Amino acid sequence: MPAFNNYCNGKWTGSESGETFEVRNPADPDDVIGEFPSSTAGDTRDAVDAAVAAQAAWEDTPAPERGAILRRAASRLESRSDEVAELLAREEGKALPEATGEVGRAVNILYYFAEKALDLGGDVKASSSRDTRLETKTEPLGTVGLITPWNYPIAIPTWKLAPALVTGNTVVLKPASRAPAVAHEVAKCLDEAGLPDGVLNVITGSGSEVGGTLTTHDEIDAISFTGSTVVGQQVGETAAADGKRIQLEMGGKNPTVVMPSADASTAAEIVSDGAFGGTGQACTAASRAIVHEDVYDEFVDELVAATEDISIGPALDGYDMGPHVSKSELEGTLDYIDVGVSEGATLETGGSVPEAPRHESGYFVEPAVFSDVSSEMRIAQEEIFGPVVGVIPVSSYEEAVMLANDTKYGLSASIVTQDLSEAHQFTDDVEAGVVKVNEKTTGLELHVPFGGMKASSSETWREQGDAGLEFFTTSKTVYLN
Ligand code: NAD
Repeated sequence: MPAFNNYCNGKWTGSESGETFEVRNPADPDDVIGEFPSSTAGDTRDAVDAAVAAQAAWEDTPAPERGAILRRAASRLESRSDEVAELLAREEGKALPEATGEVGRAVNILYYFAEKALDLGGDVKASSSRDTRLETKTEPLGTVGLITPWNYPIAIPTWKLAPALVTGNTVVLKPASRAPAVAHEVAKCLDEAGLPDGVLNVITGSGSEVGGTLTTHDEIDAISFTGSTVVGQQVGETAAADGKRIQLEMGGKNPTVVMPSADASTAAEIVSDGAFGGTGQACTAASRAIVHEDVYDEFVDELVAATEDISIGPALDGYDMGPHVSKSELEGTLDYIDVGVSEGATLETGGSVPEAPRHESGYFVEPAVFSDVSSEMRIAQEEIFGPVVGVIPVSSYEEAVMLANDTKYGLSASIVTQDLSEAHQFTDDVEAGVVKVNEKTTGLELHVPFGGMKASSSETWREQGDAGLEFFTTSKTVYLN
């Protein structure tokens, strides 16, 4: 069985505990991806010590040199992208084209932030005094902790570590235990690209032990967390009480509003792509379709047809949709199917474990569509994190917006309409950090800010693009007379 190690102070090492945990392919649990260190609080503190010791020299390294290391790492990852995409599909379960897209995204993130290195430093501003040169100057925060989820196991760690590193911070990354292998691949590429020892450290282990130690460690200046709202709020409270800067990206219950001017088949395709990509395990997954009564019946028929067209099977065998990442995630989705039925929603299609022999051991479920959903039902309020979409009928735009906003979340939202003023109005009215018109709720280009409102995000800081750089820096205003 392949043995993976922590990456600490430039060396690949096991845990002081000597203990490991296994990661298996969710499409075929007999396929073991590897074993990873069950790291302790002591291992985590060692990683923080290494990162703190490396920080001053890294900050002193000219930004273009830091960028050049990211660029070389990007090129290494790019040259290995087929093999890394296959590893990602095996460990997390997503269909191979999605895994390939995600690895490509990580490559592009590294290239993007490598170029950003050339623009770092600050600005010269006009001064009211002729004798004064007035400048702003950006500086890194110091040493930062990154805590990431399993559902985008290479893109999310990369979109945090690339801006953190290029701005001169040193990093301890704790990847999710269900899919840690591809984060190691990024670390390997950075190591081979010449990243100095201790600048990046990757430590695997339990959330409470490794994540908890990072969150409470005195020498960690900031925590950037992506994961569930329950864990994120707890991490945020602890880290904020310690005076750390915090960035929290959490859950979603993302609506797609379908108005009478929409073509039902196009709207169904938009909802089905948004709901079932990545087996519905996306924070921005389209889990609610809020549909005007004039187009409701046709839309439900089209959505059921689109859903039944999705083939389910192992990621590497060319199927449209892979398994859940784990047995417990599969069981969570099956429980929500029962909840929806008992709440009185109509299960139009899906929601069962497929019967074909090859699915026997994997964590597969048929994508599910509920109609006749009302907003107070649990399936309309709680993040399911599986391939389930609920269709809610409405009779006006005002009602649609009211229900779109009627959850604790506010991550992504979409409207399908041919009416331009309605589209503009929606971008004003909806409570979401990402708003789309005639597009699926999932997916965002890497140079624009990403984050949510309400319980989806800490709101103060966004990720990606320049917003990603801002989180990891502080600024000084300098008067030179
Ligand atoms: P999770 O909250 O269970 O875990 C996220 C990370 O936190 C993992 O690395 C985990 O080990 C760690 N962790 C767990 N307990 C901890 C603790 N007490 N202290 C510190 N760290 C701890 O989430 P998950 O199951 O890995 O991911 C799914 C969730 O992530 C969903 O809710 C999804 O919506 C969310 N997500 C959000 C975004 C976004 O950008 N908003 C993106 C992807 C996923």
